[in-house]
Amino acid sequence: MAKIRDILIIGGGPAGLSTALHLVQIAPQLAERTLVLEKATYPRPKLCAGGLTVDAEVLLSRLGLDVYEVPCARAESVYLQFEGRGLRVHPLRSPALRIIRRDEFDHWLAQKVRQKGVEIREDVQVKAVHAQAGTVLVETNGGEFDARLVVGADGSNGVVRAAILPGQPLQTARLLEVICSPQENARHQPDCAYFDFFCISNGIAGYSWDFPTQIQGQPRRAWGIFDNNLLADGQRAPLKGQLAEEMTRNGYTLQESDLQGHPLRWFDPRAEFSVPGVLLAGDAAGSDPLFGEGISLALGYGKLAAQSIRAAFETGDFSFREYRRRILRSSLGQTLCLRWLCAHILYSLHWSWFQRLVWRFLKPVVLVAGWLMVLNWGKKLK
Ligand SMILES: Cc1cc2nc3c(=O)[nH]c(=O)nc-3n(C[C@H](O)[C@H](O)[C@H](O)COP(=O)(O)OP(=O)(O)OC[C@H]3O[C@@H](n4cnc5c(N)ncnc54)[C@H](O)[C@@H]3O)c2cc1C
Repeated sequence: MAKIRDILIIGGGPAGLSTALHLVQIAPQLAERTLVLEKATYPRPKLCAGGLTVDAEVLLSRLGLDVYEVPCARAESVYLQFEGRGLRVHPLRSPALRIIRRDEFDHWLAQKVRQKGVEIREDVQVKAVHAQAGTVLVETNGGEFDARLVVGADGSNGVVRAAILPGQPLQTARLLEVICSPQENARHQPDCAYFDFFCISNGIAGYSWDFPTQIQGQPRRAWGIFDNNLLADGQRAPLKGQLAEEMTRNGYTLQESDLQGHPLRWFDPRAEFSVPGVLLAGDAAGSDPLFGEGISLALGYGKLAAQSIRAAFETGDFSFREYRRRILRSSLGQTLCLRWLCAHILYSLHWSWFQRLVWRFLKPVVLVAGWLMVLNWGKKLK
């Protein structure tokens, strides 16, 4: 017989855990009726460079959480460049980017959720979701659940979106990442995070990155490459060779055996984000098409999902028709729409001369656009 739960959150990453934490904050009586289902056990690996922006820190601090508790590497500046030359961003706040490991960060967040009284069941994999009139049936490897509502926070490869919106086009980016030891002859500075957009002129709508990181206190570099596939035109340019070349140029050797890949589902303002009884959050709803940034956005989605859940219980209307409007009108939706637009412009104008112009000469324009479009939406998220 199916177990009955009012609120089921599927996926215990930043989006699902943030939904739970925001429920505790704005509707504690509902948090008690919430269950998070996570297919893995913490601390679980998650392929991610771990760059945490100021918006993530703002959202966490408003939940009363101190991200300083999580081990991190600090990038004091960010270098945005094309073919090795570009502009250094040295913000007033320090660090410019905090780089966490996702196994540690998500485990820490899950502990906070448990301490606040929300139940998380690990090792429970959701296999199917059926949204029916007035209830949502969830099939897992540990039996069935009947829920009043479900939050699909199961990431880019999740089952919830596929189950509730099967006909919707998939907009996914490809990402590859490798963790290396710092090299003595490396060209890059140890406390700087680098983004190089050289690959745009080779048919890749994205950039390679080189971030400082740490594993158990030992300094490491996280190298990777992002392609949102906007330049694919039927055939996708190979990524591995481009990353290997860029690493070699900077004093590193790509060990192919250590290379890992993962898709990232990106946001489209025309997409749907819910059906009656089911809401999507985080990558399942759609992440950043411009840089592939998603941790802060997943935390932000959690806040909006919690607000819609509270409204549903207050009004008795579980259609979630207002969720799309709530997202698009929020500062989270606005940054995502601007990033979506910006990604289409920046990556479509793929000529080398244009990219050189942007990254080497238009520093004030890039800084203002970054300030307005990429950062500082967190404190405006009501
Ligand atoms: C290589 C790479 C580098 C990245 N670098 C950055 C970066 O530097 N900064 C940044 O902000 N973002 C980065 N991102 C994006 C970021 O990782 C995601 O946007 C973020 O993890 C989204 O959080 P989420 O909670 O929506 O999904 P996830 O973090 O994917 O969490 C989903 C959770 O659901 C669980 N789950 C999945 N399916 C099921 C199921 N069927 N049943 C139960 N549980 C399930 C998973 O185990 C997981 O715990 C990167 C992504 C990649 C691939």
